[in-house]
Amino acid sequence: LELRDLLVRGVNPIINPHGLESSLDEFLSIYGGGYLENITSIVKDITGRTYYLSKMAPADEEHPSFFTDLLEAAESIGFSVSAYVNVFADLFYAADSRFNTQRGNGKGLEVFVCPNKPEFHNHMITVVKEIAKFSVPRIFLSNLGYARKDCCVCEDCRAEFSNYLGIRYEFDGPDSMDADQYQKWVFWRLMKINDVVQRLIQAAKAVNSDLAVIPVLPIDSELGFLSEYKEGFGIDIQTFAKTAKHLALEINPFTTILPAPDSNEFTKFIENLSFMTELRSEGVEFSMIHGVLETEEEYAHAKALAEAVDIRQFYTQIAYPPRFRTLREERLGLR
Ligand SMILES: [Zn+2]
Repeated sequence: LELRDLLVRGVNPIINPHGLESSLDEFLSIYGGGYLENITSIVKDITGRTYYLSKMAPADEEHPSFFTDLLEAAESIGFSVSAYVNVFADLFYAADSRFNTQRGNGKGLEVFVCPNKPEFHNHMITVVKEIAKFSVPRIFLSNLGYARKDCCVCEDCRAEFSNYLGIRYEFDGPDSMDADQYQKWVFWRLMKINDVVQRLIQAAKAVNSDLAVIPVLPIDSELGFLSEYKEGFGIDIQTFAKTAKHLALEINPFTTILPAPDSNEFTKFIENLSFMTELRSEGVEFSMIHGVLETEEEYAHAKALAEAVDIRQFYTQIAYPPRFRTLREERLGLR
């Protein structure tokens, strides 16, 4: 599908400069005249690099001012630009062994940083504040939580969790724990993630209280839908929803194929979204995101899913961001 096809159907594109087939100027000359209403740009990519000149984060070498150029054009042409920020997927920081997240086998991941590094929290808070100062109505926060169930067992996490248990405790990972320790491990991880995500949301809202700060939650059949949320990612959806009041569900980001309407898989998918009902009654809003909509069939499947759960705001990436494949393999435990 062409971007134009998606725009006329009211799909909101998520762009990154590496995924554009042309320069920003050419892109705007094609789509700027009437097609663009709401566009979302990745502002801090999986690479850890930003598309604006940050005081804190390294800027992308090829496109250091893509986002600020886009904002300038948006103001003169008249469309709105939202920001998409990768939090714990950050190749730049993860390349440093003091920051990358480590699995039970002692192997560090390439894309993900440990969610428990105060220095990285400060880094992200500064970046989020910088972005909140731009004229954007919403900021999506993606790649929150632990990368996987067996993360993180870096030196800092081991020391801190031992301290939390109040004993000198040596462990290799969750597999080596007894039931009581494991319960505490799950609780401790939830607490850590809730704390940092709340601080990121509050930091953005402190700059601009009208800003919608929207956590992005992958809902993927390959990841077992919601089953991994608490024990795997350390994410409590209820707490996220109460803090943010708006969640973006990223449907099958790693499986890519979406279930066809009327199939058993489709019904199963909808069942796994039943948690939305209660949250909606508490005033929580939902948007939906799907990777790249390449074919008419994929678009039809995505649209059917969104309609089945009454989601109106639908976003799609126009191209996979750099190094997405590595991120996917790490999430699914393929590497
Ligand atoms: Zn760690």
